[in-house]
Amino acid sequence: MATPRPKSPRRPSTGGKNKKKKRILRSPFGRSFAGNLISTILIFLLLMSLYTFISSPGSKPKEISLSQVAQDVSAQKVTAIKVSGDTLNLTYENGTKRVSRKGPSTGLPEILATYGVKPAMISKVAITVQGESGWHFWLVTLVPILLPIIFLIFLFWFLSRQVKGAGMQAFSFGKSKARITDPADTKQRVTFADVAGAREAKDELMEIVDFLKTPKKFLDIGARIPKGILLMGAPGTGKTLLARAVAGEAGVPFFSISGSEFVEMFVGVGASRVRDLFQVAKRAAPAIIFIDEIDAVGRVRGSGVGGGNDEREQTLNQILVEMDGFEPTEKVIVMAASNRPDVLDPALLRPGRFDRRVVIDLPDRRDREEILKIHARKKPLGPDTDMSVVAARTPGFSGAELYSIMNESAILAARENRKEVTQYDLIRSIEKVMLGPERKSHMLSAKEKRVTAYHEAGHAIISSVLPYADPVHKISIISRGRAAGYTLKLPFEDKKMQSKKEFLDDIASTLGGFAAEEMIFNDITTGPHSDLAVVTALARDMVSRYGMSDTLGPVAFASERNAQQIGVPYSQDIAAKIDAEVSHIIDVAKKRAFQVLKEHRGALDATAERLIEVETLERVEFEEILIANGITPKKKEDDAPKTATATT
Ligand code: ADP
Ligand code: MG
Ligand code: ZN
Repeated sequence: MATPRPKSPRRPSTGGKNKKKKRILRSPFGRSFAGNLISTILIFLLLMSLYTFISSPGSKPKEISLSQVAQDVSAQKVTAIKVSGDTLNLTYENGTKRVSRKGPSTGLPEILATYGVKPAMISKVAITVQGESGWHFWLVTLVPILLPIIFLIFLFWFLSRQVKGAGMQAFSFGKSKARITDPADTKQRVTFADVAGAREAKDELMEIVDFLKTPKKFLDIGARIPKGILLMGAPGTGKTLLARAVAGEAGVPFFSISGSEFVEMFVGVGASRVRDLFQVAKRAAPAIIFIDEIDAVGRVRGSGVGGGNDEREQTLNQILVEMDGFEPTEKVIVMAASNRPDVLDPALLRPGRFDRRVVIDLPDRRDREEILKIHARKKPLGPDTDMSVVAARTPGFSGAELYSIMNESAILAARENRKEVTQYDLIRSIEKVMLGPERKSHMLSAKEKRVTAYHEAGHAIISSVLPYADPVHKISIISRGRAAGYTLKLPFEDKKMQSKKEFLDDIASTLGGFAAEEMIFNDITTGPHSDLAVVTALARDMVSRYGMSDTLGPVAFASERNAQQIGVPYSQDIAAKIDAEVSHIIDVAKKRAFQVLKEHRGALDATAERLIEVETLERVEFEEILIANGITPKKKEDDAPKTATATT
């Protein structure tokens, strides 16, 4: 129930597991030296056997002497002699074949005559002379000479292909540790077509693509192309994906490294990696360097308690030095991604560095539908699936979470041995992605079940009664992830802003579980502790970030985290006032929560009893209980905050 979508600790992190695997290129030898050797030997053997095949067609007939030939001709045993070069191929009456050889200069009839064969005998034999220009002759003479040459040419071609085609491999030889995506590698190629929504971001980045494709056009006219582009957005909104798509669209090599990879055990390694990476990228220009999660190295320097981290600072300094050292004509663009731009060192954001910033928002309803469709491409969908319904039920979900929904539903279908994904698989996956898997084995005791039922009913009733809280979509006391039960709330539409009234109603309904437990059981369990954390964070944001406090007024106070970015520094005195105001807001909200539950005790009891019975209440069923107890369910026209939320 937080302002930007609540990232409760229960939500499974989805960013990591669906990142496309990048091929890690190594030295040309490391990968396939053995493979090359084997294929070379195989090809060599093949050529050898081909040669022997050509030079010796079939099994050789027996060779006989010239005198034997003369004898056989005289005896009229020979019917035909074929002369090719110096070789005589004899065919006998009975069909046998023999070969013989003669001297190079003399003709066959003369030879036979010198052996005393009568001319009449000679004329009876069909003598054919095959010209020495016969292909066979040439082949036999030339192949022994040409074969090694052909082999050498082939070897050179093979090796040069290795060097050129995976020319990128040579670049990764250094110590930069960057992963390189080769533009020629079509299997890994990502284009803008793979990124749904994010229209403004794509428009902005199209300019960069244009520059990388035809830098001359821009340089000729004296245009200064941004060196650094910072992609900002919540986790899983597709920052990494977009950066890869820019490289894919432009067809340039993509050097990517994560901020955390710079920082390793040894001091100085990070800085030398940066140097190496930039050097290599410049050699491969035009190219893109992508520093993912740059906040790992790019945090405000010197603000850490206990004197900051030397290694991190050196790495950051090196990045700045390299970016400043670019010639204006250098066709290398540095992209970076961060979901915490507020903590970045201001030096990074100065002109000439990451001065171009592209914000990527969480997808709206139409974008969500498109993202779902992209990830549904390779999955067989049943006829009842409707992505627009899934999109409507997932406000506040990131691209990565939508990807997870598609994936989880395919897993569900496969586990039940079905060939198609159904709508029901998709709907079940939404809750799984939001809250973690159902834990049917986790049995609650009768008492725990009662407490959980009242806790969830408390959230649900307050959300239904207070005008600015989100309408309830589903209540369940089946445990999921680490939560014993949950109440799903769903706004009627996506909204980007949240008003003070909405904040206050949110806080009250989040306290509903706590209030119900205390009211009914006169006791508190550990159940609501995460609710309390949410409430405290909400109230603190109201006071110190959004200026929604009556006593402190519209001032954004700095927090320790982003001291250099937003807000004014504040004194101990103010800090105490903020704390007091936060307590005050929570106190008022708690009283409102108790008030609502007291007034609607009937609805609370009825909902809790029904939950104990059936464990899960869908919206329609819950609204019947509300109506029976004199509460009018919310209609679509109601004001509603912006994201799907789950209170546990
Ligand atoms: P980030 O870097 O912002 O945390 P990623 O780029 O790693 O997010 O996104 C994770 C995955 O989520 C992507 O690989 C992709 O499958 C999916 N995804 C995120 N945004 C989109 C989008 N706009 N269109 C399609 N898929 C998306
Ligand atoms: Mg990322
Ligand atoms: Zn709760």
